[in-house]
Amino acid sequence: MWRVNRPGLDARTVYRSCLTGAGADMSRYEDEVVLAATRYAVAADAGRLLDLKDLCEMPAVKDDRAALKDLYTSRLVRQADARRYYDKLKAAAPFGQCPLCGHRDVSTLDHQLPKSSYPLLAVVPDNLVPACADCNKNKSAAVATTDDAQTLHPYFDDAGAGQWLFATVNRATPATVTFSAEPPLEVGEVMRARIRAHFAAFGLAGLYAMQASRMLAGQQRALAGLFELAGSAAVVAHLREQADSWWGRFRNCWQFAMYQALAGDEWFVGGGLRG
Ligand SMILES: [Zn+2]
Repeated sequence: MWRVNRPGLDARTVYRSCLTGAGADMSRYEDEVVLAATRYAVAADAGRLLDLKDLCEMPAVKDDRAALKDLYTSRLVRQADARRYYDKLKAAAPFGQCPLCGHRDVSTLDHQLPKSSYPLLAVVPDNLVPACADCNKNKSAAVATTDDAQTLHPYFDDAGAGQWLFATVNRATPATVTFSAEPPLEVGEVMRARIRAHFAAFGLAGLYAMQASRMLAGQQRALAGLFELAGSAAVVAHLREQADSWWGRFRNCWQFAMYQALAGDEWFVGGGLRG
């Protein structure tokens, strides 16, 4: 959903660092892992991770698949030398913000293609995305079966510079806000579908609605005060200023969409804000 610069870590170097002290000698898979990483970068760049289906459930030996997955759990996460890379990947998200939800704090790494199905990609840097615990947990281990059902990859996918996150005001007391993903036509049909799929997969409508209701409750008295003092036009100007400020730094964040919707809602700025 939100871009993070590609890690720029060498897949072979990271893989080798995970071999140190590993329970099983997995050095024989080094070239296979590097080749998988190279193919991964090409496929991800084209938005076609489905092209890697032949890597699913590879290698054929069950114990080796388990040992490869374990390189992530017991080496990359826990062993000091390899852990440097884990920490570096985690630290890459701007403001420590999870790029999948664009809201919560990064606390882990998420496998874009799950290690349960793709053991060869278990410690490939391009497949490891900084994420919050909830997004990591919410994302199903199921792999998309069509290109347009894939969630977005923060290193490779570009949702465009335009607005895709919108909000509408629910004219109730207290006022609440509902969010939806409505990507612009210019990003293309597949990307539009993927943005919607991502929005649904990570439960962003619910997350944002809850955050917005809390923010609105906290600001209700200040907005009502401004309304009484300076009238509706001053409230609109204030809300637009807030929206512009958020947009300038965090495109398509819920704060921007919320302020934009509030500023544009005649009922809210005409007194609905008094609650
Ligand atoms: Zn998240």
